[in-house]
Amino acid sequence: MASDSHPKIIVVGGGAAGFFGAIAAAESAPHLRVVILERGPRTLSKVRISGGGRCNVTHSCFDPRELSQRYPRGARALIGAFHRFGPTDTVAWFESRGVRLKTEADGRMFPLTDSSRTIIDCLSSAAEKSGVRVLTSTALTAVKKRPGGGFLFDLSNGESMDCERLLWAGGGCRTEGHPAVALGHSLMPPVPSLFTFQIDTPWLRDLPGISVASAQVSVPGTDLKERGPLLITHTGLSGPVVLRLSAWGARELHGLRYQFPLRINWLPEINRDSLVEDLQARRETCGGQTILRTRWNPLPARLWESLVIQSGIMPDTRWARLSRSEALSLATLVTSTELPVRGKSTNKEEFVTCGGIPLPEVDFKTMESRIVPGLHFAGEALDIDGITGGFNFQAAWTTGWIAGNAMATQS
Ligand SMILES: Cc1cc2nc3c(=O)[nH]c(=O)nc-3n(C[C@H](O)[C@H](O)[C@H](O)COP(=O)(O)OP(=O)(O)OC[C@H]3O[C@@H](n4cnc5c(N)ncnc54)[C@H](O)[C@@H]3O)c2cc1C
Repeated sequence: MASDSHPKIIVVGGGAAGFFGAIAAAESAPHLRVVILERGPRTLSKVRISGGGRCNVTHSCFDPRELSQRYPRGARALIGAFHRFGPTDTVAWFESRGVRLKTEADGRMFPLTDSSRTIIDCLSSAAEKSGVRVLTSTALTAVKKRPGGGFLFDLSNGESMDCERLLWAGGGCRTEGHPAVALGHSLMPPVPSLFTFQIDTPWLRDLPGISVASAQVSVPGTDLKERGPLLITHTGLSGPVVLRLSAWGARELHGLRYQFPLRINWLPEINRDSLVEDLQARRETCGGQTILRTRWNPLPARLWESLVIQSGIMPDTRWARLSRSEALSLATLVTSTELPVRGKSTNKEEFVTCGGIPLPEVDFKTMESRIVPGLHFAGEALDIDGITGGFNFQAAWTTGWIAGNAMATQS
């Protein structure tokens, strides 16, 4: 255990990034005193609720460049960082401490136990073993530079502290009184990311629970376009493709006050004109069947029925009687349904924001501030956010690990 005369590293924030940073620093320089300050009564609270209580630790995407493409903000800065500590290292880090991860079909990685408790116990025990001190219910309330280097700061319990190096891993969402701003940093304002779309259109509202394996959604007038699984909910649209679109379009959609037209191509594999031909060819193959109750099933039956009715075709029309203009209306609607989005809803309970410390103000080799020497950043405090799938934790592990190691070698 490091004695009181040894240099001190203070980590603000007892979340994923703070723990990883603190453990990395304490393990690589055991003579250092490393202290985590957590304002809440307990640490790692987001880890506990993450992944529906299972904690989606990372993603089985092991190529740094490819992995970086899952980050609407931070992609470029993270490539080098992932070369130094990527998902392979995350898997090895946890495995060397007795936690094995498993990979699900979509690439998400979870502890074998399917319990976030396993990850919390692992991080807590690694912190304890490496001599990290954890102070809960203790917030950093104000900070200033110490003459001659380091920092002086006030705590919520009325005490003051000082340190040589400070890791700010305080998470996202904060604008008022941000300590890094007091030290000279700027902040990208927080806006929500990873949300679902509220749509009031009555015929869509009648279809909750229906999903389409691969739809394309886009926002006319912008470059926003995504393809993937789409889910109709009782409030509008959700599913991976919507969450991805909301993440990539976080700032743009915020600028539109979450009121915009959404264009959906329910069958993106086929273009409109080919679909018209295809629909007309049904005259020969199933001419006697009604279009509504067809054995040809390009889409879930209830969705197909709604699209047929919305395109203005009479419900009892048989394929043999489908006119070219009716085929064109149906094909146009199937490949280009436009629905008005009226607002956003939270995806499960997952409040994810983008915004935070602008990346040009940070040296990603050390996660040290380019403005305030000795101040480092990690995790959601930075203007980095990933799409859903374990990418946000991976960014927290990566930036925490780099910051912790850099603080250890520089102290
Ligand atoms: C419901 C939910 C589920 C999620 N599931 C997943 C998932 O499965 N996979 C995934 O990759 N991502 C997931 N995420 C996102 C992920 O949890 C975050 O990206 C990650 O926790 C960020 O870690 P962090 O350490 O940077 O910040 P945080 O976990 O937010 O930790 C920051 C800590 O700093 C403390 N703090 C702030 N200011 C101060 C101060 N002044 N003094 C002292 N302490 C302070 C806060 O109390 C907090 O405990 C989920 C998010 C939510 C909300």
